Amino acid sequence: MSEQSEREGPIVDRSVDAGEGGGCHGGAETLHAAAVASGNRELLKRYAEDYPKGPHDQPQTMCPAFGALRVGLRMRRTAMVLAGSGCCVYGLTFTSHFYGARRSVGYVPFDSESLVSGALFEDVREAVLKLADPDHYDTIVVINLCVPTASGVPLRLLPKELNGVRILGIDVPGFGVPTHAEAKDVLAGAMLQYARTEAEQGPVQAPRGGRSERPTVTLLGEMFPADPVGIGMMLEPMGLAPGPVVPTREWRELYGALDCRVAAAIHPQYTASAREFGLAGRPVVGSAPVGCEGTASWLDAIGAACGIAQAKVDLAKNKILPAIAGALSGSPIKGRVTVSGYEGSELLVARLLIESGADVPYVGTACGRTPWSEADLAWLESRGVPVAFRASLEQDIAAVKALEPDLAIGTTPVVQAAKEMSIPALYFTNLISARPLMGPAGAGSLAQVINTALANRHRFTAMRGFFEGVGAGETCGIWDQPPVSVAVPAPSPVVKPL
Ligand code: SF4
Repeated sequence: MSEQSEREGPIVDRSVDAGEGGGCHGGAETLHAAAVASGNRELLKRYAEDYPKGPHDQPQTMCPAFGALRVGLRMRRTAMVLAGSGCCVYGLTFTSHFYGARRSVGYVPFDSESLVSGALFEDVREAVLKLADPDHYDTIVVINLCVPTASGVPLRLLPKELNGVRILGIDVPGFGVPTHAEAKDVLAGAMLQYARTEAEQGPVQAPRGGRSERPTVTLLGEMFPADPVGIGMMLEPMGLAPGPVVPTREWRELYGALDCRVAAAIHPQYTASAREFGLAGRPVVGSAPVGCEGTASWLDAIGAACGIAQAKVDLAKNKILPAIAGALSGSPIKGRVTVSGYEGSELLVARLLIESGADVPYVGTACGRTPWSEADLAWLESRGVPVAFRASLEQDIAAVKALEPDLAIGTTPVVQAAKEMSIPALYFTNLISARPLMGPAGAGSLAQVINTALANRHRFTAMRGFFEGVGAGETCGIWDQPPVSVAVPAPSPVVKPL
């Protein structure tokens, strides 16, 4: 396409009002219709296939774009630029810095005029031109938030490369990508696609530590840093090694990730990334090595996908399974635990809890059901555990209220609701995701945090007694009238008996 026609491309005439009727608090249908009308029909169709919605449109998670933003902010020499409403960008940058981003987030502001005239696209292009300094960056990622996506701001028309710096433009609208966990996949998938195309065209940069001598297993999904090390010990007797974890921390790792023997979808929502591995001719295996049964099945599946002789797979199992069994029996969990979250690893956590001895009567995940969650779903259902995909906050809280567990694992509002009922509760993201899950280390570590929380019930009971009534009835909300002094009758004089 000529430069002139590229300039003409972004002129859109179906913009949505940047101030009214848009955003995550309403207007999703309007924005969706506008996006379809402005040329994003195919994009939204692909998102609907990759991240199918459930009984309700969108679980209550943070702005989905945060997932993609965070993935980019954690990569070396990568600049992140947002195009969207000021309030969205404020929230996203605030959250990024809350989670320790330690670098600036670029922002291209707009108003109704620049949106309607197509000037926003030109502004984005100018921003990218200014940023594209190969001394500082390998990659610049531009993210269209809700309103620019709905208006069809065509980031696909940005140059693919400037001064040797790769340019990626992606749309991550809240009305098309349901959760921030899936938005991580949107960017990871776009990066894998770009890297795959580069690798197909010629030699690419080797991994920082050189290529592995053994065939590798790429790990899809963010995990605790010790987990890939533990997985490496499990794979070693099979002659395999762990490959990079996707999302990666630098661009060159993407080539190493694609150069694997098999990709392991540890988190099952990485649909776009899995598609790239499929196109690179690599099989994708679901589930993860959690607990004894999970580890045995996962090693079998990896061995089968890599064509490893069963004797070698059995050797790997014989080496690791007794250690996991020992860790599980040495740290049993006795109690009833509900699990809910929006990270994608909820089913794995539930499996490990059950193998540790816990009774798990409910699992809710904000993520959708994918081919890579099937094995864990079947395992849980065979034990009578109900699993809700695309679970809403109301569903998660209703489960806690109805089942009255000894411990509730969930997102912030679920934890808050549980604590109000004096039920001990743990934040999934901060306290469960931030520790190992795989192998013997996972078994021991999870039991430690769960058992400590279970033992704290008396504190919740005491706190509830102390705060009883606070924040309810006349002690909450806003008074619509000034308080009125009520005359209190003087106490009757005490009449002493004669
Ligand atoms: S970009 Fe995020 S915060 Fe802004 S309207 Fe969309 S979903 Fe909401």
